[in-house]
Formats: sequence, structure tokens, C-alpha cells
Amino acid sequence: MKSFYLVFLCLFAAAVPAFAEYTPNNISNECDKGRHHVASHPRSAYYRSDGTYVSAATVRSHCRDNQNGFEFWRDKIKTDRPDQWPYTEEKSKKWSVEEKEKLLDALGNLGNLFNLDSIKGIFRLDRSIYYPNPASVSKDGKIVIYDSAFDAGRSLDGILTHEISHILYWNLGKSEKDAYLKIAGWEKSGNPNAQYIPTRDGYVEPDGRLSPDEDFANNMEYLFSNPQKLREVSPKIFIWLNEKYQKKINSNKDVKK
Ligand SMILES: [Zn+2]
Repeated sequence: MKSFYLVFLCLFAAAVPAFAEYTPNNISNECDKGRHHVASHPRSAYYRSDGTYVSAATVRSHCRDNQNGFEFWRDKIKTDRPDQWPYTEEKSKKWSVEEKEKLLDALGNLGNLFNLDSIKGIFRLDRSIYYPNPASVSKDGKIVIYDSAFDAGRSLDGILTHEISHILYWNLGKSEKDAYLKIAGWEKSGNPNAQYIPTRDGYVEPDGRLSPDEDFANNMEYLFSNPQKLREVSPKIFIWLNEKYQKKINSNKDVKK
């Protein structure tokens, strides 16, 4: 999933709720603390994790329990276009109510490790110029989600883990970054403006050879979605990342309980 440099300029678009007159049939947008309003919307058919088929339906307006991290993520979901986004072919699109809830569900499944202040926004564009790429992230912390992120068979949790892990990598201190590069077999080529070159054999995804941060993001995605494969393909990286991140997330979860 592509990443590049962009200069960040904050454009904040606040959603201004229209004032609704009270009628007995109106459902109030006011929800109890810890819950949020979900407007009536068409829901696509889907399979539950246990394999049960749920058919398409119109979901009525209702109040829903806030997902984990709701207060943090709510303001990160942006309705405008990411400023200075380089690909003009990629058109802005409105989040549907269903997509927004799915996004909040997925973000709620990630540990607090991923609640980074350096995430400047999560934006919605239609189709990547690298279709079927489901998401992109810019060096200044803007994440873009494309239509294909919502395709059947895609894991939004995995996609978000991947994109946010690019930012985690860019935020690493020098000694942490050097330690990762060493354990993952990235070596500087001879010249002073050197790029890193991959020297190890196994990659969970072939594009991990492109750059250390792509490699890191892939490995983090697998650490949380398919740790067995990461352990099998890159055992040293598995141990390093597991020690640093997975354990931390597990201990956070323990504290919550
Ligand atoms: Zn990527």
C-alpha cells in the first residue's frame, strides 16, 4: 500500500447536524452517554464470523454503544478531501453510515497502541490509482480508505493495522529503527545517500522487499492477523515485534478487564 510525502495543512470540516423539528415519529439524535446516534441506512448482506448469512435490510435509526476508542477516533474521520493529495484521479466520496460504523468497529478492535496523535485524519476516496489497493497513507499521517477496503473477503482491521503501522515505523526513534533494520536484514548500500537493500529471504508479502517501512507494515499486519505465518516466514522479526507490541497490547487488555 502506497506511501509518500505530503505537506500537512489542516482543513477541518465539521459535520453540522440539521435542526430537526420534533414530531412524535421523530427519533431523537440524543443518545445516552457512551452511545452514539446511527441514522437509518441500507445495510448490505454479509456473513457473520460464525458463517451465518445476514441478508440486506434497512437499518432503522438507533442509538448504539460506542466502540472502543470512539472518542479518539470520531474526530479523526474526515469528510473533506486530504489536502494536497497527489492523485487527482482519486475522487472524494462521502462515507456511508454503514461504512463509518464498520470503520469504527475495526478501529475499536485495534489496541491503544494504534491511537496515535500523529494520525491526522482518515479520509474516503473512491478508487486507488493502484486498484485494488484498499488504502494509502501519507508521511504526514493522512490515511485514505478506498471502495475496495469494503469488498467481501477484505479485513478492515488488517488494512488499518497496516496503514497505521507505516506511521508507527516513521515515529520510531533511531535506536529502535536501527534495531528493526538489523533484525530484519536491511542493509545500507555503499553510497552516502544510500537506500536500504533487503538481504533476508522470507517475506510475508512480496512487496515487503520494496522498503523497510513496507516490510514493517506487512509484518505488523501479520503479527495481529496471522502470527503463525509471520513466525514461520520471519521468526526473528516475529519475536522482536511480539515482544515490543503484541505483549503490550495483551497487557493493556488485561488491565481493562
Ligand atoms: Zn503499505
